[in-house]
Amino acid sequence: MIGLHVSIAGSMDLAFDRAEAIGATTFQIFTRNPNQWKFKPIPDEAVTVFREKRKKSGFRKILDHMPYLPNLASPEKSTMKISRYSLVEEVKRCDSLGVDYLVIHLGSHLGKGTAVGVANVAEACNEALAGSAGGTTILLENMAGQKNSVGARFEELEMILARVKQERVGVCLDTCHMYASGFDLTSKEAVATSVGLFDEVVGFDRLKAVHLNDSKGELGSKLDRHENIGEGKIGRSGIREFLHFPGVAERPIIMETPYKDEAAERKTMRTVRSLLP
Ligand code: MN
Ligand code: MN
Ligand code: ZN
Repeated sequence: MIGLHVSIAGSMDLAFDRAEAIGATTFQIFTRNPNQWKFKPIPDEAVTVFREKRKKSGFRKILDHMPYLPNLASPEKSTMKISRYSLVEEVKRCDSLGVDYLVIHLGSHLGKGTAVGVANVAEACNEALAGSAGGTTILLENMAGQKNSVGARFEELEMILARVKQERVGVCLDTCHMYASGFDLTSKEAVATSVGLFDEVVGFDRLKAVHLNDSKGELGSKLDRHENIGEGKIGRSGIREFLHFPGVAERPIIMETPYKDEAAERKTMRTVRSLLP
């Protein structure tokens, strides 16, 4: 299962066409404009067409990414309220479309500390999953470690998982964010140490999906700057070693680097396939 973040411009179901056109077997979408708070409900017809295309595609797993504005870790009441509402609604959108995984950013505790941030994110997940009868699983994405951000350290991911009462919660590891937050991935030994630590602290079985991005920033730079596969600081051999860590290649793997055209997207698909075990 290899794919990209694809556009839903024009119609949601076009995500399948766009993915298939570049040889992808999974994808990630935004179900709505990620830079706005406001959104419209998905028309029933669009849901039907989306589900029909899913069936024809044979895609085993598809992903949605949470919009950018919500801050689920926020200690501020008004931000907390609107952010939680956004998550509740996004889970419902995923449920109706049959999207398997909803990847969320964990946000910023705005200086109130990790304990506060972790508790807020967990409570938001509990609320959203309690309001959902569907099959969507929320995936916590590890962060690059910018100031006050929650979830760069595996311990923080584990603390949230432990506080969420439902089973429908897991982790999506972003390789760029791992590297930027100080987990080396540039050699077989480094990958074994970094992913081994994830296994120790969180448990490898909680890993449900991968964001495969190279990094513009140096190891530990805390910079969330994605680079094309093989062209960044992790490099081709590091990405290869990561994909060869036992079990990684069985997860849906999504590249999130913006590519200039379809030819570039096809090329990155081929590159990643060539690096698989
Ligand atoms: Mn993300
Ligand atoms: Mn990501
Ligand atoms: Zn990123």
